[in-house]
Amino acid sequence: MLIVKKFGGTSVADKERILNVARRCVEEYKKGNEVVVVLSAMGKQTDVLLTQAREINPNASKREIDMLLTTGEQISVALMAMAIDSLGVPAISLNAFQVAMHTTSVYSNARLKRIDSERIRNELASKKIVIITGFQGINQVDDYTTLGRGGSDTTAVALAAALNADACEIYTDVDGVFTADPRVVPNARKIEEITYDEMLELASLGAGVLHNRSVEMAKKYGVQLVVRSSLNNTEGTIVKEEVSMEKLLVSGVAADRNTARIAVMGLEDQPGVAFKLFNHLAKHNINVDIILQSVGRDGTKDISFTVSEDNVDEAVEILERHREGSLKCHGIDVEKNVAKVSIVGAGMMTNAGVAAKMFEALYDAGVNIKMISTSEIRVTVLIDESYVDQAMKAVHDKFSLA
Ligand code: ASP
Ligand code: MG
Repeated sequence: MLIVKKFGGTSVADKERILNVARRCVEEYKKGNEVVVVLSAMGKQTDVLLTQAREINPNASKREIDMLLTTGEQISVALMAMAIDSLGVPAISLNAFQVAMHTTSVYSNARLKRIDSERIRNELASKKIVIITGFQGINQVDDYTTLGRGGSDTTAVALAAALNADACEIYTDVDGVFTADPRVVPNARKIEEITYDEMLELASLGAGVLHNRSVEMAKKYGVQLVVRSSLNNTEGTIVKEEVSMEKLLVSGVAADRNTARIAVMGLEDQPGVAFKLFNHLAKHNINVDIILQSVGRDGTKDISFTVSEDNVDEAVEILERHREGSLKCHGIDVEKNVAKVSIVGAGMMTNAGVAAKMFEALYDAGVNIKMISTSEIRVTVLIDESYVDQAMKAVHDKFSLA
């Protein structure tokens, strides 16, 4: 079997952990498997490098930032090769350049386009464990690029697809994907199996276990994933197309505190108003999430929407700039102390009343809902941030997820 194993920063944070990972890889190798290892930078190294960059030049170019960040992963792969070698198994580390992992040209947020697998295959054929830098690639002009924070997961999935691997295992510091964040909901439970679509919703809600692009890619190429702990031998969570057991109504509850609401009041109730408003934001690459438009009254209407808290100041500034001109609105209101709480479950598609049940749980807990949005397999509410923990517990209980 050819197995791709990805280890995150906490799993390679120091010498002991590197040796621990090395032993796990050697164990797999000694069963007669071909082993490809993808690593993140050690511990918080990527943050440390970013801070260093900012201290030297707050406006450093993204090209140089990527040049800097790629060193993080290069350190961990080289040390891992040394660790595996010390255990008596031949190993070789390769960076994105040596493999040739081709990406789009955008620095700091590149997308993988193509991976040359020849070098990796040759090294595997000569019985080596091959250790590859996560998170990085090279672009058309042979510069280093990075795939966005958390991007090593995507490297692992892309490699598993390119090498037609038999398994892709994502090792982390938790036992798998949980029904809710155990720090908030103490009786949250590990999920055994989850569909790509559910995982995608949870990943984009900031559940934090997998990079959402990695899940998109796994779905596209049919790569089955296992998310499990590098610190113990507990079986993890399997992420795949269809789960074999009866689909649960709701698989998990997630919260995203990094969100803010903007309300634009007294817009003209005419065609083109929403277009103008959101086009101003789109031009600045500001992503909008939940959108709510009021019923028109006296020729005016209100539109409110959420954006990531990182973008809210910029978004308001852009709108203020157009307030008198193309927008002609009466007021712009901002609320930062809001959060999204969502339930996700493939079983929702075929069951009525799931949303109502969630709203009932929130009502019983005395939580006021500010906005609502739904997809086929998700219901999201926007609430006051101070109620998040309470809301999550209430909803988790209501659907008996413990
Ligand atoms: N080292 C990178 C980061 O911290 C990539 C990763 O860990 O997946 O974001
Ligand atoms: Mg990660």
